[in-house]
Amino acid sequence: MTLGDAVADAEPLGDGAPAMLRREARIDLAAVSRNVRRLRELSGTPDAMVVVKANGYGHGAVRVARAALAGGATWLGVVDIAEALALRNAGIDAPLLCWLHGADGDFGVALDARVDVGVSSAGQLRAVAAAARDRGVIGAVHIKVDTGLGRNGVVETEWRAVFEDAAAFEKEGVVRVRGVFSHLANAGADEDARQVAAFELALATAEVAGVRPDLRHLASTAGAVRVPESRYDMVRLGIGVYGLSPFDDATSADLGLTPALTLVGGVVSVKRVPAGTGVSYGYSYRTTSEANLALVSLGYADGIPRLASNRAPVSINGRRYTVTGRIAMDQFVVDMGADTCEVGDDVVLFGDPETGVPSADEWADAAETINYEIVTRLGGRIERRYVS
Ligand SMILES: *Cc1c(COP(=O)(O)O)cnc(C)c1O
Repeated sequence: MTLGDAVADAEPLGDGAPAMLRREARIDLAAVSRNVRRLRELSGTPDAMVVVKANGYGHGAVRVARAALAGGATWLGVVDIAEALALRNAGIDAPLLCWLHGADGDFGVALDARVDVGVSSAGQLRAVAAAARDRGVIGAVHIKVDTGLGRNGVVETEWRAVFEDAAAFEKEGVVRVRGVFSHLANAGADEDARQVAAFELALATAEVAGVRPDLRHLASTAGAVRVPESRYDMVRLGIGVYGLSPFDDATSADLGLTPALTLVGGVVSVKRVPAGTGVSYGYSYRTTSEANLALVSLGYADGIPRLASNRAPVSINGRRYTVTGRIAMDQFVVDMGADTCEVGDDVVLFGDPETGVPSADEWADAAETINYEIVTRLGGRIERRYVS
């Protein structure tokens, strides 16, 4: 498979040196826009935040952000202030939230860049208020409450105190509580319902303290699609935007989504070997008959999981094969049996299965992980090419 003429431009990830070997992530930005539109239809909320943390789940945060906004996203979400600034520096001025901060989180920088700050403690709230007071601005915050995920977010015993502090800062004119939010553990319907109930309690606590957020948000892709009670004013859409399913029991196609990323390596050699030939380190694979072995220009340094050795599928010239032998740092081998191919041919590891190539889900199964990890782990030597 080749996307050939459709390739618009390339964004090298490493030091900008020209790629000598084919290691390409071909990213369909029109699919990103379509997926956003589709997820907005499914969830029906007034607002939709598209999450572009971790460099847009490996797809390129800036390009994905623009495509998402074109598809109807009204907010963008990232993890930390540095990721938020990278978007602002690229000229993106859509509403933007970041929600994970270390001990030295520089909230003043966030306020200067008009980035809303997700706060998970009284201390973070105070720090935003102090930075805003210094600057003579109003710091926009979204208070994150822990409703049962056990990660960040204000714990229930402190909800009242934090909302009362927030109300006082609002009165002083240094803070505006634009949002109250939380995150689901995706631990099943009962747990979802318990978290929704806890979120209701947090909102009631805010109300009593006099805090009235414009945006109550709880759902990520899974909740947006399957837990209507979790949708509130805005959903935070991540994996679905990239065209991947958060569910074990539904594919991308089942959800009406198109995987945006196609991972492509190149054939760097083809050779005919006799039966019984050991392949790659440790000889975890031996040919069972005379065979053609294709060598592919991707390895675990590129984020190809070594655990998928002898398991994961690839597609070469429209036919499927299995990775054979141990995946090495820079390369792996495919036993093509009686078939053959040419040096320079594309090898598709995963992409949109509707086009006949393997899926990121198949790679996730082969590597005993989830599709999220398969796309976000792609390494620094991979070149991203954007399909217009
Ligand atoms: C990553 C993240 C999301 C997006 O989750 P998906 O499952 O990828 O849709 C939403 N909200 C928060 C707080 C996140 O960290």
